[in-house]
Amino acid sequence: MCLNLRLLDAMVVLSALTALCGEAAAANWQPVATYQGERVEIDKTRIARIGDGKTMAWNRLMLGREESIPNSKDKYSTVQALNRYDCEKGSFATTKRVFMRDDKVVSQETIDSPKEMTAAPGSVDEKLLLEACKKRTVGEMQKVADAVGKLAGGAKPEAEKIAEAPPKAMYADMRSATETKAPTTRKVQSPSYIKHAEAPVSSRKARRNQPAAALAELERIHWGYEGEGGPANWGKLRPEFATCASGKRQSPININEGIRVDLEAIKFDYKPTMFRIVNNGHTVQVSVGNGSSINVMGKRYDLLQIHFHRPSEERVNGRGFDMVAHLVHKDYEGQYAVVAVLLETGGEHPLIQTFWNNLPLEVDQDLAPNVAIDVTRMLPESRQYYSYMGSLTTPPCTEGVLWLVFKQPAQVSPEQVDIFSRLYRNNARPIQSANSRLIKESR
Ligand SMILES: [Zn+2]
Repeated sequence: MCLNLRLLDAMVVLSALTALCGEAAAANWQPVATYQGERVEIDKTRIARIGDGKTMAWNRLMLGREESIPNSKDKYSTVQALNRYDCEKGSFATTKRVFMRDDKVVSQETIDSPKEMTAAPGSVDEKLLLEACKKRTVGEMQKVADAVGKLAGGAKPEAEKIAEAPPKAMYADMRSATETKAPTTRKVQSPSYIKHAEAPVSSRKARRNQPAAALAELERIHWGYEGEGGPANWGKLRPEFATCASGKRQSPININEGIRVDLEAIKFDYKPTMFRIVNNGHTVQVSVGNGSSINVMGKRYDLLQIHFHRPSEERVNGRGFDMVAHLVHKDYEGQYAVVAVLLETGGEHPLIQTFWNNLPLEVDQDLAPNVAIDVTRMLPESRQYYSYMGSLTTPPCTEGVLWLVFKQPAQVSPEQVDIFSRLYRNNARPIQSANSRLIKESR
């Protein structure tokens, strides 16, 4: 009874927010996943905690093409969905869908009995759930509370009920709603690298034999680079991080004894792009627009984001560097390729300076500066490189990642390193065992 009332209150407030702000005025869409021209985003300004570990959030699926609405002549290219997330159970239900074309609503539906669905591990649904359930900063909570208070005509709700959090679009459910395709089950790889999100979703299978209290205790620990959440413990923190401890193809490694061969040139097809920048609590991360890619070993990988570590994670013949930039790419099957640009102190790096100029003031606040960048300027002059198979260097430490490490470091000024150090003195995972992996090297 109590829950129902609170839910109802929150829904009323949400509808007020939605109806009064309108999407154009209020939205701050943040990309969560892309797949073959489709894009899933969450509106960071319309996330509301509704109590009992539940959150409401707006997501959208942008198809990049037009599809017909069943039994209608109308076409749409975007579906927005209002989802309710159960952060503890790891499930969600879609309560409303809005079909849009060219920013205009063509059709909408409210779901009378929303169906509770589990967010499958590694799915876009799970990514959205993680975003929707992420803890907000106090500043953000206050901002949302203020906005809601204003819209609700001064009846200001308690801040803790209306914490903002970015939601996940009900990807599978949005698609099935169109009835043009079966609900998708395709796996998009873990979002951790893209968003470094903590995973509150429990995987009951993996934890069956562990006492609940011990697990709950571990789940409270956030991964990081020091203390109990440090790299040595990553594999124990959550079942989905197990590969961090058990994997045999982990990164980073000390790169030595590579075989010297004529490695094909990596074909860079980077386009000028706008960017978003966030200090996500683990690194400074720059997300770029669609359309930039590399071609290597017969595959195309799209550029998603760039982030930084200090000191460099990888070593070359035992030598570490002041910093490293990781350019994260993904192919259409969800496989990652990471280009590493080692950074040593010297002259100022113009592109890094652009990033630092636009650093957000708060953790998790993401900025979209009105500045275009050319990511090609991140690359060193010489395109010789090392390559080996490894993993993500942050939980869940997913393997099958193609690493492409430039031999020539780029330069970064001591001041630029200092600026990053103010945020992250050390955010490098220690060297992992190479386990006699083959390393190739341009000669
Ligand atoms: Zn990295």
